[in-house]
Amino acid sequence: MATGTGRPAVELCVVSGKGGTGKTTVAVGLAVSLAGAGAGEPRLVDCDVEAPNAHLYLRPDAPEETEVTVMVPVWDPGRCCRCGACANACAFGALGLFGDRLVVFPEHCHGCGACGYVCPEGALSERPQRIGVVNRGRAGGVVVTWGVLDVGQPRAVPVIEAARARGRTGSDQTVLDGPPGTACSLAAAARGVDGAVVVTEPTAFGLHDLELAWESLRVLGVPAGVVINKAVGGRGPVHAFCERKGLPVLLEIPLDRAVAEAGAAGTPLPDAFPRYRTVFQDLWEDCAARFPERTSP
Ligand code: SF4
Ligand code: SF4
Repeated sequence: MATGTGRPAVELCVVSGKGGTGKTTVAVGLAVSLAGAGAGEPRLVDCDVEAPNAHLYLRPDAPEETEVTVMVPVWDPGRCCRCGACANACAFGALGLFGDRLVVFPEHCHGCGACGYVCPEGALSERPQRIGVVNRGRAGGVVVTWGVLDVGQPRAVPVIEAARARGRTGSDQTVLDGPPGTACSLAAAARGVDGAVVVTEPTAFGLHDLELAWESLRVLGVPAGVVINKAVGGRGPVHAFCERKGLPVLLEIPLDRAVAEAGAAGTPLPDAFPRYRTVFQDLWEDCAARFPERTSP
């Protein structure tokens, strides 16, 4: 799909097998470097909804907040015949028939609607329950969107999907800051993107987490490349793994105390060190060339 500029609309997800590798540093660096580069306003979408912090780098003014809700069942005891079909149909243990009382555990409900479908008495309706919010604002030429999962809520996926839907519209260039790890949240953030950048470190732990992330992306059918953060020069096990799997090493960010200090101060790398603007622009162009635009969502 081409957007207003006629260029292909590229959606890139930055991921890591674990937190703290520099994933957000790379995602923010990409978005900031693309701003003002002539292709419209890039989108930065923080899908790390349990601990979003990309917006802390950019500090958008007056963001608009939208609630994210899921539908949960509401029981009508007056119509219920206590057959238990709803509880048996629920694959998530969100319903329990205790004596003559049906108990709904909304925090376990996935909103699939199966209980209402099997109920013979029409005794189950639905109500929306808030599980988080999506915020959207502008800063430094970037449209920044970030999802926030409410405290105590276990369902990150609907918030990630809402953030992606709200965040990517109308731009040729969308950078998703994915959640760390390889669980459902990663699938929700990376499914259907044009390509992924896996950020890792040149350590045994980094290699282990890279292997997990690569395997998850392979299952999702998402092509990927690797950014090695805190690189110390030379070749190591991460390079060997990438070579074995045909994973391109797209960029190495050297281990540098000044880079770490900029991150700790919440300063995007291209703002702290202008040379990184070109580095990240080149990274984007490299990815756009390697990962051809998908035709399916
Ligand atoms: S909507 Fe689905 S997940 Fe929720 S209680 Fe009903 S069957 Fe269970
Ligand atoms: S399926 Fe309907 S009628 Fe049967 S226990 Fe559940 S709510 Fe009651």
